Formats: sequence, structure tokens, C-alpha cells
Amino acid sequence: MSIITNHMPTAELQALDAAHHIHPFSTNADLGRDGVRVITRAKGVFLTDSEGEEILDGMAGLWCVNIGYGREELAEVAARQMRELPFYNTFFKTTHVPAIALAKKLAELAPGDLNHVFYAGGGSEANDTNIRLVRTYWAEKGKPDKNVIISRKNAYHGSTVGSASLGGMAPMHAQGGIPIPNIHHINQPNWWAEGGGMSPEEFGLARARELEEAIQELGEDRVAAFIAEPVQGAGGVIVAPDSYWPEIQRICDKYEILLIADEVICGFGRTGNWFGSQTLGIRPHIMTVAKGLSSGYAPIGASIVCDEVAEVIGNCEFNHGYTYSGHPVAAAVALENLRILEEEKIIEHVRDVAAPYLKEKWEALVDHPLVGEARIVGMMGSVALTPNKEARAKFASEPGTIGLICRERCFANNLIMRHVGDRLIISPPLIITPAEIDEMFVRIRKSLDEAHAEILRQDLMKEAA
Ligand SMILES: *Cc1c(COP(=O)(O)O)cnc(C)c1O
Repeated sequence: MSIITNHMPTAELQALDAAHHIHPFSTNADLGRDGVRVITRAKGVFLTDSEGEEILDGMAGLWCVNIGYGREELAEVAARQMRELPFYNTFFKTTHVPAIALAKKLAELAPGDLNHVFYAGGGSEANDTNIRLVRTYWAEKGKPDKNVIISRKNAYHGSTVGSASLGGMAPMHAQGGIPIPNIHHINQPNWWAEGGGMSPEEFGLARARELEEAIQELGEDRVAAFIAEPVQGAGGVIVAPDSYWPEIQRICDKYEILLIADEVICGFGRTGNWFGSQTLGIRPHIMTVAKGLSSGYAPIGASIVCDEVAEVIGNCEFNHGYTYSGHPVAAAVALENLRILEEEKIIEHVRDVAAPYLKEKWEALVDHPLVGEARIVGMMGSVALTPNKEARAKFASEPGTIGLICRERCFANNLIMRHVGDRLIISPPLIITPAEIDEMFVRIRKSLDEAHAEILRQDLMKEAA
């Protein structure tokens, strides 16, 4: 078999990686300085690297390995499907069993009349599909000018030209000529960083009403859709104040615009329900799913679409599709993943066991000298790092400096926890046990203490002016 051996010395693998592999969202300098870790195996919530170190994966890969690593059943299903039908397309009056079975299952799991599935290779592609879906929907209804999509600053909707345009990440917009036209961004509901003197509830309402203001400004007949993550993930696990989502729903109901919930992270149990929309009380017309759909075992995403939109789209020829839309191996793997989530009651485990236990420990982190707020929904949490909790102050150092110091201590202590600027975030596999959560917190506390000592040593515990 042509696989690169795992027994090559780590330094050699690192040198080959540096010579030939371009990494996403990384600079050569970062990679060189830190020494890339070569991950060779994984089981449950633990990764193993090429030096034999066991690393606790507090991020479930990239927010995706919901059922944990090493499930033989998925490997079996993939092998069986590859033998039986490794590929066929669904473009020209053909279909296949895995695509049908998965679509039926998703329609059953998804709330309301979200009964129709358009497949993609991941979340970015699915959001590109959504741009064309909602614009085509309105064009077919005789409103071709109703083509503006409203999104939010610091949202993450993917990395393709379309999905990164929907996203509100300034460093992404700075490269490659995006956003595309007719995407409008309103402010995010990040009370800690942007709430000023308002209470969280006042601030949540104010930020939701920016949607209404934008609709009025642009004109109701220009706005096709609003897209948002129920809980912002890559933006730093930003949990909106309680007042936010009911107001957003009210506005979406009042004006004739489609609501797209980007469930790529929140879907499949992450928030303690099948979908984040259920946790947050949202009624979307379209949901974007990927990541936890296959627990990362195979690349697959989808747009799950309501009856009305699917009917209009079905009446025209929607000139859109990917070679790997509904890829049979990926669909079969996703279906098996959903079976495991359901039969092993993993979402109930999140709701009744893992999430309450994690919440208690996570929120207790505010007693640490570096931690301002600690927010968590289900199995996705964040802490804001601050030199002054009362003032919700930012650090004087370049944003992200303190977050990176913490992240590096975690990495050194064999814990994967990410930083987004000066926030730390976790999103562990949903199957994590209380004992493993305990172990995770031993490593979190140790890393935070070491980071705090380092920050004091470098005299960085200073507020921005
Ligand atoms: C990861 C992510 C995406 C992009 O998904 P890919 O599979 O990386 O293309 C889109 N939306 C959200 C909310 C995500 O977290």
C-alpha cells in the first residue's frame, strides 16, 4: 500500500512538510518557530503524535469529531460502500442509496419543514450553495433585485470566495478581492468586547435591531436573506445575550427575508440539541450543516432547505452542483455517524451529563486572574482574557499576544485549546466523560497558571489605553 510510513523520524516529516505542504491560516514563521506536530493516531478524545505523546483534543479536531476518534463502524461502512459503489453522481436523472437514505434521515432530524437536502463537500461549499439558492429563489419569484444577504462582522461561514464574503473576518476580506457584491455586514452581539456601558440585555436588543435598520436602509425589496451562526464559533465562541435571538426572529418574521442558520458547528449535538436553532429558539428556512454531520470521518456538507424554497428551486433548473455532491462513501459514513449519535444517546449524554459538568468547571475559571468572562453553550465554550475584569479591559499588547501565550502553554501540556485573539475556546468531542473533563481541567489550570507567570515575567499584564 502506498502510505507514507509513520515510523519516519519526526524531524524528517517536519522537514518534508515544510518543503512541500502549504498550511491553511498559518505563516511559515509560525510553523518553523513552533515545530509542527505530526499527529499519527487518535482514539476517543486523545490524539497521539509521532513522538508518542498523548494529547487531549479539546477542539474535536476542528469542531467536528463529535463521536470521538477511532470508531471502527465508520471505517467498515466506508470500506463496504467503496466496494459496492465508490462513486456516482446525482446530476442527470440518477441517484443512489446513500444520498437518499441520508437525505431522508436529515429531513427527519431537522426541525419544522426543513425536508430537502442539497449536498456539498463541506460547510464553505454549502454556504456558496446558499448564496445562489436564496438569490435564485427570489429571482424565480419575480424579484431579481432582492439579492442582498445580510451577515455579521466576525462571523465565520467558510473560506471559499462566496462563503468568506458572507463571513465577517476582516483579515480574510483583506485578501483575494472579497467580499463579492451585495453582502452587507452588521455588528456582532459580542457584549464583553463591544457592550460598553449597556447591560447585556440592552446590548443584545440593540445589536438585533441593527438587522431591522439594515433592512429599512437597504429596502425590504432588496434583502434576500440573513445568515448567522446560532453561536459564533471561529469568531471566538461568542454567545449572544438572551435578548438577541428572539428579536432577530421577530424581525425575520416581520420582513419577507429568509433566515439561514449556519449550523456547521452547532449542528449534531454541540449545543445539547440536534441543532443550535432548537437551543436558541430560531426557525430557519435553510440550515447549513457539515463538520459533525460525519464527525469529520469524511468530507461532507449540506444545505437543508424548507418546503417552500425547495419547491421554487425545483421548478427551475438550478444550474449548480458539485462532482462530489452526496458522495456515496461520505453519505454512508455520515449516516453511520448519525446512527451512533442517536442509538448511543450522545446528545442526551451532552444534555444530561457532559455539558452540565463542563459548564460548572468552565464558569469557575473566572476565579483565575487572567479570566474575565467564561461563556458556554453545551459543548462549546470561551473565556475572555483580561488584565482588568471590572473594566472588561483589553491588553495593551497586540491583540492575540496573550491568547497565543496561553495556547502555547496548552500545547506544551498536551492539550489542544485554541485562541481567537485574546479569547480561549474549547469544543471537545461530545463523548467526553466527566473523568476526562477532570483531566482536561488539570491541564487547563496548569497552562493558565504557567501563562500568567509568563505574562507577568514579560510585564504584559497591562491595560490598553
Ligand atoms: C467550519 C465552518 C464553515 C466552513 O466549513 P468547511 O467544511 O471548512 O468548508 C462554515 N460555517 C461555520 C459556522 C464553520 O464553523
